[in-house]
Amino acid sequence: MADYDYDVLIIGSGPGGYVAAIRAAQLGLKTACVESRETLGGTCLNVGCIPSKALLHGSELFEEAHDGTLAKFGVKTGKVELDLAVLQGEKLGAVKELTGGIAFLFKKNKVDWLKGHAAFKDAHSVDVAGKTVTAKNIVIATGSSVTPLTGVAIDNDKGVIVDSTGGLALTRVPDHMVVIGGGVIGLELGSVWRRLGAKVTVVEFLDALLPGMDGDVRKEAAKIFKKQGMELRLSTKVTGASVKGKKATLTLEPSAGGAAETLEADCVLVAIGRRPNVDGLNLAAIGLELNARGQIETDHEFRTAVDGVWAVGDVIPGPMLAHKAEDEGIAVAENIAGLTGIVNHAVIPGVVYTMPEFAGVGLTEEAAKELGEVKVGKFPMMANSRAKTNRESDGFVKVIADAKTDKVLGVWAIASVAGTMIAEAAIAMEFGATSEDIAYTCHAHPTHSEALKEAAMGVTGKAIHI
Ligand code: FAD
Ligand code: NAD
Repeated sequence: MADYDYDVLIIGSGPGGYVAAIRAAQLGLKTACVESRETLGGTCLNVGCIPSKALLHGSELFEEAHDGTLAKFGVKTGKVELDLAVLQGEKLGAVKELTGGIAFLFKKNKVDWLKGHAAFKDAHSVDVAGKTVTAKNIVIATGSSVTPLTGVAIDNDKGVIVDSTGGLALTRVPDHMVVIGGGVIGLELGSVWRRLGAKVTVVEFLDALLPGMDGDVRKEAAKIFKKQGMELRLSTKVTGASVKGKKATLTLEPSAGGAAETLEADCVLVAIGRRPNVDGLNLAAIGLELNARGQIETDHEFRTAVDGVWAVGDVIPGPMLAHKAEDEGIAVAENIAGLTGIVNHAVIPGVVYTMPEFAGVGLTEEAAKELGEVKVGKFPMMANSRAKTNRESDGFVKVIADAKTDKVLGVWAIASVAGTMIAEAAIAMEFGATSEDIAYTCHAHPTHSEALKEAAMGVTGKAIHI
């Protein structure tokens, strides 16, 4: 057998890559991880999940102090002012600690961090900064980046038309921010800047926000964001943009076609989706082809069509989520080590970290109905004692079960802590729970999670508090 520098070489150190590297090293494999960024952790830790959550948290605190929520609970604050530089500093602090944490874990687990861009030479060797590195197994975990919008040029340095990376780093609160795309990024970052004082208009191509989520959730989302003061322009597309000094002028049209109009903004956030990072990998050298969406296809063990080359995370099909990438990272390392690594792609929760949070796992009601008859239980947060006490009563929990077997097919929640609540639903579904299993599980009182129990009780018409 040929001698290789490593048993496993991973390209990319995001949640897919760094987790794969640590798990492979734990399993006794000689492992290296190549990263072209200065720091480890990929999109998620550097310019995604972590910095966005820092700004979401800080802006929630600001709004609570500013809009009288704290005062309502007797907390006197005096004049409330925003120091954006401090907030941005706190965000950078969290990013530094967490990316540094991965460097520490690499050292602890003896994973070699190779700095530079990796490009294939053949299926067992890559070029990293002019040096050839060989490995028996190579895992592509190169992630994704922002999808550009034709006619709308992004310039993060100028700060007028930005992508999510620029939208996380603004040094002043815009007067009017137009968000192109009413998906996860648009609503999370739009919420941040609205709370900090910007007028926010969301332009969405489709007739509802948050594609992929349950229909009821999408309808409720529009009501909630409107109530919070966002202007929503649904069924509308942006056809062009021009920038003069610090102002952008956008041209809008109804998605179905029609009369054009213009909209002015001092900041435009482009958030219309992300696409896999494959440029510069020299996939031609190994004869690996992409699917029609530019993704790398794998089998359920995360093997690509090329022997010895594997792939995980945003670069392969499935939701572009950090926890999905992490689970695939663990599974690919276990498969390479000869164990059985599995990811159940039917049970991957998704969470939008606005206030309230929007979360779901499993099938939407629409998708479940396509497979057969369903029963649905729905419980409003307004009737949940904890949510009511905390004055955060927007939202509901919805449980969708198979009408014949009662097996839970999907759970959707809008609640201040929906992201935490959805983990219980995911565990229940992993264990093949029925709605009755959830309904007859004792839930602590008073908790938001009681709304899940009540929604499950509602599947068979037994909810108590409504
Ligand atoms: P990535 O994290 O993209 O990492 C890939 C790494 O590979 C990058 O660091 C890149 O520099 C490196 N790389 C690429 N090509 C090469 C090469 N040829 N050589 C060397 N290195 C290379 N998901 C959630 O689950 N929850 C959230 O709250 C959340 N918030 C988000 C907020 C924002 C603003 C954004 C943009 C994304 C968010 N996501 C969130 C999505 C999440 O960040 C991604 O799903 C996740 O990072 C994907 O992990 P990955 O390992 O596949 O790739
Ligand atoms: P998205 O797919 O969530 O939303 C993009 C939106 O843009 C869609 O609603 C789409 O209909 C709309 N759109 C597309 N083209 C348009 C156009 N020309 N004009 C107007 N609207 C248009 O994508 P995103 O918000 O950019 O996020 C990218 C990825 O990052 C997502 O897959 C998401 O999973 C991930 N992410 C996750 C989280 C989280 O888990 N909390 C947070 C941020 C990002």
